[in-house]
Amino acid sequence: MGRGDWSFLTEKLERLFYPQVCSFCDSLIPEEAGGSRRYVCRACESDLPFRLNDEIYPDHAPFLLAVSFYYEEPLLLALRQLKFHGRTDFAPALATYLYATYRRLNLSCDVIVPMPLHYKRERQRGYNQAGLLGQALAELLRIPMLEDSLLRVRASGRQSEQRGREEKLANVQGIFRLNEDHIPVLSGRRVLLLDDIVTSGATMTEAGRCLQDAGIDVLGMACAAGGLRQD
Ligand SMILES: [Zn+2]
Repeated sequence: MGRGDWSFLTEKLERLFYPQVCSFCDSLIPEEAGGSRRYVCRACESDLPFRLNDEIYPDHAPFLLAVSFYYEEPLLLALRQLKFHGRTDFAPALATYLYATYRRLNLSCDVIVPMPLHYKRERQRGYNQAGLLGQALAELLRIPMLEDSLLRVRASGRQSEQRGREEKLANVQGIFRLNEDHIPVLSGRRVLLLDDIVTSGATMTEAGRCLQDAGIDVLGMACAAGGLRQD
């Protein structure tokens, strides 16, 4: 038996013992012939606020920022559940959509670096939701994820109190430090930064700059949700 047969068998067994339920509505998801594992039923999926033709986030130079969903319900519910209520099953569910965005935009990166939380916040929560999303996406892309490449050395001020993009960028300057142990692994590889939500994008831009300053190639960034529909 080849490796492929084994993984096919393991997946079959997994589904037998753990039938897949929809992360949004808990209904059982029927297995689809030849389909990949689904985490969201078709009815709930049709309610999701996909950005689709608008997946490249505007005004985000110098980095490309790919965003799968608008920052609207019912996606906000999923992100809140993932972030505050331990519903870590939303990470692989949302990663399948980040994967689809990545493919649609023809991106090509070698390693995923999730946006770090301040260590105090991570200790309170017990996990970093961006790390969970990053791990799930890395598995789909079959590339590694490197957590802790960026260290958050201070919390930023409240973003909403600042006005323009320049002011927001100035406020986040110096909030990250690169983990120097990771430089040999990151060198020569294209990095995709990953986060759950983007607002102004200033924090991600600062993270990208922190990597670039050390000579690391940042392909761009990907986020599950950001922006509102313009209609
Ligand atoms: Zn559902």
